Amino acid sequence: MTYKTPARTAKSAQYFTNARKIIPSGVNSTARAVWSGWDPYPLFVDHGTGSRLTDVDGNEYIDYLLGLGPMILGHRPPKVTKAVVDFIEKRGTVFALPVADELTLSNKIINAIPAVEQVRLCNTGTEAVLYAVRLARAYTGRKKLVRFEGMYHGFSDGVYWSKHPGLNVAGPDKAPMPIPQGPGMPAHLADSLIILPWNDVDALREAFAREGQDIAAVITEAVMCNTGCILPEPGYLEAVREITAKNGALLICDEVITGFRLSLAGAQGYYGLEPDLSTYAKGLGGGFPVAALGGRKDVMALVADGTVSMAGTYSANGIAVSAANAALDELAAPGLYDGLYERCQQLYDGLEKIIADNKVDAYVTGLGPVLQVWFADQPIRNYRDAARYARHDLFRIWWEEMLERGVLFHPGAFENLFVSFAHSKDDIAQTLSVAAEAMRAVKAKH
Ligand code: PMP
Repeated sequence: MTYKTPARTAKSAQYFTNARKIIPSGVNSTARAVWSGWDPYPLFVDHGTGSRLTDVDGNEYIDYLLGLGPMILGHRPPKVTKAVVDFIEKRGTVFALPVADELTLSNKIINAIPAVEQVRLCNTGTEAVLYAVRLARAYTGRKKLVRFEGMYHGFSDGVYWSKHPGLNVAGPDKAPMPIPQGPGMPAHLADSLIILPWNDVDALREAFAREGQDIAAVITEAVMCNTGCILPEPGYLEAVREITAKNGALLICDEVITGFRLSLAGAQGYYGLEPDLSTYAKGLGGGFPVAALGGRKDVMALVADGTVSMAGTYSANGIAVSAANAALDELAAPGLYDGLYERCQQLYDGLEKIIADNKVDAYVTGLGPVLQVWFADQPIRNYRDAARYARHDLFRIWWEEMLERGVLFHPGAFENLFVSFAHSKDDIAQTLSVAAEAMRAVKAKH
């Protein structure tokens, strides 16, 4: 593939050519790779400010990529930046001893989220999930983890299965087979996993009827944010909670994307869900690497007495703790989320009108600041629907036309658009006027 106007991003192309010689795939995360949609090369960034990002060629974009989620307060949020700089300059970074600020932060998290009675800090979502699953297995004395096809819970061997497995190899719709991300992951880990379709209460009930005695936990996002953005059907989350509780399995809510974003109490706050364990990362740190595992005190007791180890040289480092303390202060401002949802509604309404005006087979799904435009003529309620019906070719045209006109988001149809607190009504109005033109171009090639 080529970009619509490659000359606009010539410097990015040059950097990428050089990067590929010394960095495998030219990037430092799969989500930035050519095969994840950044074909023929990812944009190299110069800087970001608020809702805007500027690439090395000097093109400015309204940014809905937002670092894949952490930049919830926009780029370089002044209070977070100041808190981090102050901490580094006046106090340090890593001590291998606690700082009092960890207490302040933990109290803020616990006060914001009813189901979190205790919390341990770490660095990334991958770590938080790894700890959550280990803890659930230790607490229940059971082996198996239920995870849903098309979700992503980080890249550790135990869970990096069946994200985008490809329909031919993944077994029947109702009983997908565990498919590892690739070679190098021990095949025997498949025995510890049960892969199920999401939004399907019957499939979950059947799994518990079959092997409930072995199921330690069910891990899920409350809104599926790693196959585009798919909402839970009414009653689904309640059923998951009821079935897990009835069978003595833990419910792990992966709030790495939704946490501190859909509300201060995350997706579980929005839906009134009370999981046993919850994982947080992106939204927590205002752009800095910090993550958390929180949950029931009696479960966390296994961490408290050292039965389950959670280590980490950088866990609760000064940068992470000062950033998260400042970010959570910002996020606690009264009315903040109401304003965000209002601006997001403006975006949803505008996009829907543009789709209708152009009579394109497309629709918007999402909740507040996480959304995706599906180019599909069927409803999408789980991974298999998305794999069958999503038109990646049309999404690519849409993405290129938006990029060309200064609106940036991830080129993958199974990723999301993120809206930050820094996106203004004017940003959204500008996005919509660009979207109207871009959708006409999609229509022309429909
Ligand atoms: N869980 C979910 C739901 C995620 O979306 C991600 C990252 N996109 C992770 C876990 C892993 O987080 P990290 O990239 O910080 O390791």
